[in-house]
Amino acid sequence: MIRLSKSIVGQDELNAVSKVILENGYLGMGNEVEKFELEIANYLNIKPQNVICVNTGTSALHLSVELLIEKGDEVLVPSLTFISSYQAISAAGGVPISCEVYPDSLTIDLEDAKRKITAKTKVIMPVHYASNPYDLENLYNFAKLYKLRVVEDAAHAFGCSYNTKKIGSFGDIICFSFDGIKNITSGEGGAIVAFNDEEIEYFKDARLLSIEKDSEKRYSGGRSWDFDVKKQGYRFHMSNIFAAIGRVQLTRLDVEFSPKRKLLHKIYKENLNNTPNIILQKTDNNSDIVPHIFVIRVLHGLRDSMKLKLEENNISTGLHYKPNHLLTFYGAGKEKLPITEKIYSEILTLPLHPALTIEEVETICSIINKFLK
Ligand SMILES: *Cc1c(COP(=O)(O)O)cnc(C)c1O
Repeated sequence: MIRLSKSIVGQDELNAVSKVILENGYLGMGNEVEKFELEIANYLNIKPQNVICVNTGTSALHLSVELLIEKGDEVLVPSLTFISSYQAISAAGGVPISCEVYPDSLTIDLEDAKRKITAKTKVIMPVHYASNPYDLENLYNFAKLYKLRVVEDAAHAFGCSYNTKKIGSFGDIICFSFDGIKNITSGEGGAIVAFNDEEIEYFKDARLLSIEKDSEKRYSGGRSWDFDVKKQGYRFHMSNIFAAIGRVQLTRLDVEFSPKRKLLHKIYKENLNNTPNIILQKTDNNSDIVPHIFVIRVLHGLRDSMKLKLEENNISTGLHYKPNHLLTFYGAGKEKLPITEKIYSEILTLPLHPALTIEEVETICSIINKFLK
């Protein structure tokens, strides 16, 4: 069976976890988390205080939205995203406003977003779908023009760059995920990148039940006893165990994961570029992509039969994603998004992870090419 995705963890991660359990002795949030934040900051070339680690990417999005809105405010978001983006918005008291995507890049359609702006719109949440930070210059200009804050759902985009700058090294608020199958994993985990001191302080407190200034104490193995709480907070901090895994993964990203993902992505593109009835995602020329998933569009109603063909050959595939506006909790499709709905009938995600071989990718492509000929 060729797997769609896979966690690539081994002895080094195991040793790091062992050290936390057997030597460090602090399993909750402590100095491993502080070190992981510092190392992420070094990787992104930003200051250590700009990185706030949390327990999931969803929590990162949740806290970001909660900081920026009042209850009932609206957040522009592409419907073609993981349910996380939507759940984070509604959990924070916001209303997700479903936007179309551009059919070529599969990123938020700003013309459609513009039509949906109301007096309650406070935030736009672009999703770097399939690790494609797309036309961010235009996106940030749009946000500025309509006085919106930007929360980047960069769950797919750790390690990617735009205009030679790493995603997370510039912009407004950027959220990463380190769940099991993302570009790097900490088992489960996420991080917020923020640049405003007051907002950084909010995130550091809010992840620890809004106990004021508890983060610094936790880093050195202590905690607050006499403290104040002024806001709703959450149990969203990262544990030392997870940070230890993430720290090892970060050292492997540029030497191992990123080159392999890029290589496999290139081989897919070379082999499927001229295949009839297939459209490949358009990426931004200014982007350097570390692909988390590889998504193709299969035209003329051939997607489902092709998916079946691949499954017959023991190749697992995915659908990223069921559009959120079709889900019961988010309107059950009462509102129509014709472009997104059409794209949903065409998309297919092919296997991509660092343990996949060149030969396996070539096999997948030859099955597809034979099928569509
Ligand atoms: C993975 C993912 C998230 C959430 O990350 P978790 O760490 O799994 O909570 C958010 N948005 C997108 C697009 C994702 O793929």
